[in-house]
Order: sequence, then structure tokens, then C-alpha cells
Amino acid sequence: MNAPIAAVHLAPEIAQREVPEAFLAALKARFQGNCSTALVVREQHGRDESAFTHVPPPAAVVFAESTQDVADAVALCAQYKVPVIPFGVGSSLEGHLLAVQGGISIDLMRMNKVLTINAEDLTVTVQPGVTRKQLNEEIKSTGLFFPIDPGADATIGGMSATRASGTNAVRYGTMRENVLAMEVVTSSGEIIRTGTRAKKSSAGYDLTRLMVGSEGTLGVITEVTVRLYPLPEAISAAICSFPSIEAAVRTVIQTIQLGVPIARVELIDHNTVRMVNAYAKLGLREEALLLMEFHGSPAGVKEQAETVQEIATEFGGNAFEWATTPEERTPQRLLCSNPEQARLPCHQHRHLRAHQQIG
Ligand SMILES: Cc1cc2nc3c(=O)[nH]c(=O)nc-3n(C[C@H](O)[C@H](O)[C@H](O)COP(=O)(O)OP(=O)(O)OC[C@H]3O[C@@H](n4cnc5c(N)ncnc54)[C@H](O)[C@@H]3O)c2cc1C
Repeated sequence: MNAPIAAVHLAPEIAQREVPEAFLAALKARFQGNCSTALVVREQHGRDESAFTHVPPPAAVVFAESTQDVADAVALCAQYKVPVIPFGVGSSLEGHLLAVQGGISIDLMRMNKVLTINAEDLTVTVQPGVTRKQLNEEIKSTGLFFPIDPGADATIGGMSATRASGTNAVRYGTMRENVLAMEVVTSSGEIIRTGTRAKKSSAGYDLTRLMVGSEGTLGVITEVTVRLYPLPEAISAAICSFPSIEAAVRTVIQTIQLGVPIARVELIDHNTVRMVNAYAKLGLREEALLLMEFHGSPAGVKEQAETVQEIATEFGGNAFEWATTPEERTPQRLLCSNPEQARLPCHQHRHLRAHQQIG
């Protein structure tokens, strides 16, 4: 594990540029009620879930409702040399949304339509403000799902921009593997398309890969096509504690080397388990903990869980528990048999999620 870094080394350098009055007047004339300079709105858009709180907010917020709105706002910014900060739901953790050089925020949450579901070729095209939970709700009837789960109910645009992963990454990959195509407004205000629904293209540069993870610095994503997967017939979840981080990690390495198609795996170190115990009054062994999930047929998930149980035992894993019914298999239930204690507060779960991840 890395030693904690004093926050002062991470503090952002602030060098806000002047935003011309003529620019703000032009922006207001174009966007009217969809452009706000109210302090409370700017402050909401000038921070994320990171610890950095002392950066002045952007000069204005534009609520985009279409690709053309985004293109017009960005073109105005280009004309007046004003920085642009795209905004999803503000769930990022690294200070992405801070207006360190000033500029304006473009809020994409109103662009929240699922545009085309291509169930036959396992893809869906959405506007950037669609959140991952909304997407899964809207495609439920197709028997498909979108597996990338970074904890927060983030937007598909924001997840693409941060190349989000999550506990499912071990089996389904990250946004890097799952974004096929995009529509993007570049920094000059031009609207371009990158990639297609086809798996392979040798036509030109792979701009989709360049945009994924570009954190809003190369353009504003206004449409995204992502892969979908069949909903698993059965899911089982397991939990196991280990005498050391190394034993837990070796269990995961061997599991993957043996080709067990584990879907989710999350590692929590003993310090975090101790904090969880203290906060939620649980009695977990204060050791490294693996939380796992297996997807497949009923027989398949049983076999996967049993194989991992054998591997865990080899590395000194204690009390491997697994469950298949939805009620039993939440980590909280597996963590504790007392339902009252089992209710981990939401933000506590966040800390669990944010702490240590594989994938
Ligand atoms: C509890 C919690 C757990 C998390 N766990 C994980 C995890 O396990 N793995 C992981 O990878 N991440 C994790 N994250 C971070 C998560 O990936 C990001 O919060 C999320 O991807 C950001 O999406 P958003 O819609 O909130 O974007 P925002 O936070 O609003 O924006 C994030 C960045 O993307 C840019 N952006 C947003 N929308 C667009 C767009 N349409 N076009 C261009 N740029 C855009 C913004 O300018 C900014 O730079 C976690 C976050 C939380 C709060």
C-alpha cells in the first residue's frame, strides 16, 4: 500500500482567467434561462466528491439540452478563450470539476435520453447525461445489462470521460473496453463522430480510445454507444477474510490464473474493516477481506464459488461464506447475520468501495 500523501502536495494550483463581460452577455443571450450565474448554482458545479473545497466556482453554468447547445456554448468559449468544464453528476473523486483556470461549466444532465437499443448486437446509444442506473432500468426488459459500476450513479458521459471501472471490471472490463462510439463537440465547437457499432474499424485514428479517459480536456461527449451483456441467469456472492493482504491477493491471482470467470471482487484491508466495525458495530474479523460475485448458470456459479473456496483455504482464508438468493447475497447480509447490524449506512459503503479495488 502507498503511504498516505499529505494533502498539501495534491492541492490544485489556482490561476483563474478573467471571463469577459461580453462573453457572459453573449452566453446569456443565447441560453437565457438555461444559463445561470447564481452563486449557489456555480458553487454546486465547482466541486466534486474530492476533498478540495477552496477553489472559486466557474463564472457561469450552461444547462445543455442538445448537441447544438453544447456546440454553441463551446464555440463561444473558443471565441473568447474561456475554459470549458463539462459536468455529469459531479461524483468524481479527484478534483476534475474544479475551475482552477476559471471558465464555465456545461451541465449535461438534461441530455438524458436512451436513444437506440440494439439488442441483437448488444449495444445501446445514449445521451451523455443518462446515468448507469437509469440505463439499466430502461433496458431491463431486453434481458441485457450494462455492467460498469463505479459505485456512484454516475453519467455515461462522465464515466467515459474518467474511464470508470468498478468491482465488475475483473470480468467485464472498464469503460475503455466498453465504449464503441461517440459523438463529441471538439474545443472549436465542431461536432464529430468517433468509432461505430462494429467491433473493428481500420478507418483512421482510434479517436474513441483517445476520448475515453480524457477528463473533459479534449471535447464534450454528447452521445455514447456502449456494449451490453446478457443478464446472468444466476448470481452468487461470497465473502472471506484472510490473515494478510498478500494471502487475499494471491487467492485472487490464482482464481484468475485458473480461469474462474469471477465477475466482481473487492479487497478491503484490515484497517478499513476495523473502521467499519467501529462505525456500524459489526463483529467482523479485523483482517483483509475479499467480497466476490460470480455470474453464470446455477450450476456454474456453485462450481465457481466452490473452486474459489478451495483456493482461499489454501491461502489461509477463514470462514468462506457464499449465498445465491438476492436477499442473502448482499455484502451486508454476508457480513453479518444480524439484519439490524447488517444495514451499513450508504456513505460507509462508499468508503468501503473507494478504499481498495481490484480492477
Ligand atoms: C462512492 C464512489 C465510488 C467510486 N468508485 C469508483 C470505482 O470503483 N472505479 C472508478 O473508476 N471510479 C469510481 N468512482 C469515480 C467515478 O468513476 C466517477 O465519479 C464517475 O465516473 C464520474 O461521473 P460523473 O457523471 O459524476 O462525472 P463528473 O464527476 O461530473 O465529471 C467527471 C469528469 O468527466 C468530465 N465529464 C463529465 N461529463 C462529460 C462529458 N459528457 N463529456 C466530456 N467530459 C465529461 C468532467 O469534466 C470531469 O472531468 C467512484 C466515485 C464515488 C463517488
